Amino acid sequence: MIAWSIVRKETMGFLKNLFGGSPAQHEKHYYVYQVKCNRCGEIIEGRVDMDNDLSWNDEGDGYLVRKTLIGGNLCFQQIEVEMTFSSQRELIEKTITGGKFVE
Ligand SMILES: [Zn+2]
Repeated sequence: MIAWSIVRKETMGFLKNLFGGSPAQHEKHYYVYQVKCNRCGEIIEGRVDMDNDLSWNDEGDGYLVRKTLIGGNLCFQQIEVEMTFSSQRELIEKTITGGKFVE
């Protein structure tokens, strides 16, 4: 639950910056993934809001997403996730520190 509240805060902050607080009025698309904490082994689910979480990368040919996940097991390991999507919003690359992706 702790992880979720952090992800939500992050998403809402981004939304606010982008749209001045007004939510988008159409169907949502999410990329859902799971990570396993390196320290305690907890499985944490995260998701990318494909409409709001994507930022253009430095080259301008795709999107970059960065997330920090923290589990609910009081181990306080921060798991940093970075994902690259193509301009067609297909996942190209993902990297993680502090945990592993669960396929
Ligand atoms: Zn942990």
